[in-house]
Order: sequence, then structure tokens, then C-alpha cells
Amino acid sequence: MSVDVDKSLFELIKEPNHEQIIFCNDNSIGLKAIIAIHNTNLGPAIGGTRMWNYSTDEEALKDVLNLSKAMSYKSSLAGLNAGGGKAVLIGQPNIKDRNYLKRFAQFIKDLNGKYWTAQDVNMTTKDILYIKEICPFVVGLPKENGGLGDSSTPTAYGVYMGMKSATKHLTGSESLEGKKVLVQGVGNVGLKVVDYLVDEGTEIYVSDINSNNLDIAKSRNVNVLDSDNIYNISYDIISPCALGGTINKESLEKINCKIIAGAANNQLGDDNYVPNKLSEKEILYVPDFLVNAGGIISVYHEQIKDLDSEKVMKMTEDIYYKVIEVLKYSNKNKISTNAAAISLAKDRIAQNYKK
Ligand code: NAD
Repeated sequence: MSVDVDKSLFELIKEPNHEQIIFCNDNSIGLKAIIAIHNTNLGPAIGGTRMWNYSTDEEALKDVLNLSKAMSYKSSLAGLNAGGGKAVLIGQPNIKDRNYLKRFAQFIKDLNGKYWTAQDVNMTTKDILYIKEICPFVVGLPKENGGLGDSSTPTAYGVYMGMKSATKHLTGSESLEGKKVLVQGVGNVGLKVVDYLVDEGTEIYVSDINSNNLDIAKSRNVNVLDSDNIYNISYDIISPCALGGTINKESLEKINCKIIAGAANNQLGDDNYVPNKLSEKEILYVPDFLVNAGGIISVYHEQIKDLDSEKVMKMTEDIYYKVIEVLKYSNKNKISTNAAAISLAKDRIAQNYKK
């Protein structure tokens, strides 16, 4: 960041149009955190807290800005009355103890419900329960603590619905029987996606860098691939369920598939080259923030105290129809599916502009 801090900071948040960024600091316990509230037109900002040892503060800021913006779009497209926010804790995950998390919780509490947090990368259920000791604005809790439990269940269901909807769009049939599908990352969400595909008789390929998770996946009828060789095969669907950024300039040289639909947040390496290359290669990209909304649908219901898991799954099922809407909008306006999803999300946010 340049010395002209005022200017560069506000330039950074101008285009995504963030409402509020809160920098939290406590030298005595080494706490450095950023809470980004992108938009609250539709309701309180909801989005998890992640802890990461970012190499620079700028990297942390960019991450939280991108993630919080995606949360606004995700909630908007899913039809929720929720806005977008996210928090990042900067440092090695092992420095966070109960005191550290309670101090962080105080910063969230000070926002008085404008931002609600949940579990994200490197945060455990125990961690969010520590936050909950101080601050009520926490969702994604276990059932025994008054929540709706593991959000990866609806997330996986939404991804599966997205795959079926996109397949119907391309082939006229939503069946995934006999289709070749790569699930990249078989953790909480990926493994559950695999289970849906097993039931459909899909030809499943999986990869993961965690051998324990791969061993669990091996108990299903799947083909296990070495992580370095996943793009040697031509697939019907690739489902990124590991990390963001996997659809990029380099991987697109090798990727050969008809559809991309997965759970990982921020899958596209950039917003220009990658969508163009996807359309050049005639790959139908189903935006991540559209199909992975099952988790936010679940925690939103916790936030409004409607603890009905069936309702959550029913609303998640509607992702099937939301995908159709986005694909139609993309075709009609001759824009990428990613741009179409963002445009529809922004429209709903703008219609609820708070005067
Ligand atoms: P997870 O940590 O349980 O699983 C991720 C898996 O990906 C792990 O098994 C990990 O070993 C593997 N992985 C990491 N790097 C890899 C690589 N280079 N190649 C192959 N595998 C790799 O996480 P999760 O809860 O299953 O979430 C998966 C993704 O979906 C994440 O990006 C997450 O942010 C996103 N997401 C999750 C939810 C949810 O409800 N859990 C909701 C929305 C989005």
C-alpha cells in the first residue's frame, strides 16, 4: 500500500463499494483482525471468520474484501434477507486461545448485530463457542448448542443440484448416470457430493492432498487420482471442492470438461481472462457463490431462529432453478455466467437500497 494511505484504502473499497471495514488490534495478545462489511441493504452481514498467516496485511485485506463481497452476492442470489461480511484473523492459527477469541468476540459484539460470524478456514467449533461466550452474533453452531449443525450437508446438496441443472441445460436430461465427474477435494463438502453421485451411478474421479480424506473416499466406488495428473482426463463435470483460484490461466490450458460446478469459494483466478477463456473453450461455469449457498441458507435460518433443517434443504434445492435463471440471463444478455450471477445479485441488493 502506498504512503498515501487514505487514498489507496478508499480506492480499494470504492468499486466493490464496501460499507465498513473494521481493523481490530490488541498488542497484549498479538491480535490483528479485519472485519469487512460489504453490504447490509438486505439484512445483517453474515459470513465466517477465517484465520490465516497472511504474508502481508495487504493480502489479508484483499482476501477479506473479496470474501465479504462474495457473501453479499451469495445471500442475495439465494433470496435471503442477509448482507455480506467476513472476518480474518491474521497469524498462525495456534496463537488463538480462549482469551484471544473472547477479545475478538468483543469487537464483533461492539458492532451490535450488524455483522454475524461463523466458522471458516482454521476455525474450530470450540473456537466459535468461545466467541459465543461473549457475543450473541454467532451462527453455524452445533445442534446441541442451539444451531442447525454441520452446514456442509446443505452445501453439498446445493452443489449437486447445480450439477444436475447445468447438465439438463446442456443435454436435456438432468441425469448424472455414467457421466465422468472429478471432485477435487474430498473434505466435508466434497465427500458428501461424492455420496450423491454414487447414488446416481456417476463415474467418479477424486483427488486430495490429505491421505486420510482420500482413504475415506476410497471406501466409495471412486477412481483416485494423483493431484498432479487430474487434468489428463476429459470430464463431463469438474467440481472444485478444495481451495479457491483453481480455475486459472495455467489450469485452463489443461482443463477439458463441459461443466464446472463446485463448492470452493472464489474459484476463478480472475474476472476477465478466465471467464473469456471459459467461454472460448465452451465450458459452462456455474458460479461458486450460486451453487455453494447451502451453508449460508443454513446459518441464515439460525440467525432468524428458524431451526428447521427440512426448510433449509428445500430452499437449497431451489438452487436448481436459480442456476436456470442465471444461465438464461447469461444467454439473453450475452455475458458470462459469472457476470450474469453478479448482475442478478446486485439488482436485488440495489432494489433494497437503504435511504
Ligand atoms: P475441508 O477443509 O473439509 O475440505 C477441503 C479438502 O480439500 C480437504 O480434504 C483438503 O485436504 C483438500 N485439498 C486442499 N488442497 C487441495 C488440493 N490442492 N488438491 C486437492 N485437494 C485439496 O473444507 P470443506 O468444508 O469441505 O469446504 C470445501 C470448500 O468449499 C472450501 O473452499 C470452502 O471454503 C467452500 N465452502 C464450504 C462450505 C461449507 O458449508 N463447508 C460452504 C461454502 C463454501
